[in-house]
Amino acid sequence: MIDACGRTIDYVRISITDRCNLRCVYCMPAGGIEPFPHADVLTFEEIVRVTRALAQLGVRYVRLTGGEPMARKGCLELMRLIRDIEGIEEISMTTNGLLLDGRVEEARKAGLTALNISLDTLDPEAYRRITRRGELSPVLRVIDEALASGIRVKVNAVPVRGLNDAGLVDLARLAKDRPIDVRFIELMPVGCGADLVPIPPDEVYALLNCELGALRDDPERHGFGPARYAKPAGFRGSIGFISAMSHEFCESCNRVRLTADGYLKLCLNHKAGMDVRALLRNGVEDEALRSALQEAIEKKPRRHGFLEDISDREVRRMNEIGG
Ligand code: SAM
Ligand code: SF4
Repeated sequence: MIDACGRTIDYVRISITDRCNLRCVYCMPAGGIEPFPHADVLTFEEIVRVTRALAQLGVRYVRLTGGEPMARKGCLELMRLIRDIEGIEEISMTTNGLLLDGRVEEARKAGLTALNISLDTLDPEAYRRITRRGELSPVLRVIDEALASGIRVKVNAVPVRGLNDAGLVDLARLAKDRPIDVRFIELMPVGCGADLVPIPPDEVYALLNCELGALRDDPERHGFGPARYAKPAGFRGSIGFISAMSHEFCESCNRVRLTADGYLKLCLNHKAGMDVRALLRNGVEDEALRSALQEAIEKKPRRHGFLEDISDREVRRMNEIGG
């Protein structure tokens, strides 16, 4: 499917719940959130129906996210249902990993091909501080279990001043002997992230370049996202930089998002989109659903406009949007 700016849209990120077992400081308030009422959250049947319609329009890649996707009961059952949709080639999941402990093989059998694990530090104390409650060791187990199962693994870290400055080099070293990509995602001023100070990607790059040896550009394709990759000599995996703020990548954006309450979001930073849940629950026919999705996606905003004064700026938190 091609939008009005000529971009191919072949990727949907589906947030299947806004609930989470953690309270990461850049994402959720300490006291938690008022979750969506159960009745507002799309059922598995509804998610499958929208995904099927998107697949018929050309979407090939699905990522389950949240909240914490594994915190929704039956997450792996939903994965099986999505795997069976004609046209879907890849199912990945963005997760904090904790609830996958001991279930990685089950996830692989359900169709999981790639895993993005959010992990901001290898220091157990700092991990607890950042997540406000998490225990680090299960996350490390899941990374190794996933590699052993043949699932592609990426680690996503958000560098935040005063939170994980001291541990960024150790985190990058995860890619030294393992075939995994460690990616540094620039903090976005969305939700709780607006109150924190990002460590600029150029600073992270310079730090790693100095501590790990000269980083060389890695032109290999590592998926279908906007990260730029580099690696020091002798590393099996790569180091990725996702810098939405400093290096805008809207020109090649290939994705739309579906929130847990059934809103089709066209851009991370814009409210623009469509209430798919209302359509579904008003009895829309398949063909009309496809046309409505297509019409909405054609209007995908040209740029995220994080640094500009835009009129429809998103006010949802990351745990609702799914990252
Ligand atoms: N719970 C899952 C997890 O943590 O991987 C999936 C949902 S979480 C909202 C998805 C991603 O968004 C995580 O990698 C997290 O680090 C990232 N994230 C949350 N708030 C952010 C912010 N303000 N800026 C940048 N990334 C953020
Ligand atoms: Fe939960 Fe993920 Fe947000 Fe952390 S980043 S609070 S794990 S949804």
